[in-house]
Amino acid sequence: MLNRLSIKTRSRSELMDITPLVRDIVHKSKIENGLCYVFVPHTTAGITINENADPSVRQDILTELDKMVPWQGDYTHMEGNAAAHIKASLVGSSETIPVEKGDLVLGTWQGVFFAEFDGPRRREVWIKVTKTL
Ligand code: ZN
Repeated sequence: MLNRLSIKTRSRSELMDITPLVRDIVHKSKIENGLCYVFVPHTTAGITINENADPSVRQDILTELDKMVPWQGDYTHMEGNAAAHIKASLVGSSETIPVEKGDLVLGTWQGVFFAEFDGPRRREVWIKVTKTL
């Protein structure tokens, strides 16, 4: 079963911690051992895993991505959001996380983040939990 989560982002660029939402879906799946696949079906948003203890890490990532790919630039994409498309490709559109004993297995400081680059808007995250041996 594909779980479709709806989320609402709050600014143009944002790293939203969705770890509790992902964990909840893993618990509801009742799968003990497997993989949790988290996929973002958008071209101007992505998914990434990084530190969720100190929020300044999130801010630094967004600030440096802005320096690498400024909103205004010599782009040809007519919609005006080329930077968001480029950042989405840099970050990637999926992550796969191990599931053991019915729970997500993340490093101590890791969290799963929805990466918004052209918000604020309503977005979806698709999650699939599958059994493995
Ligand atoms: Zn576009």
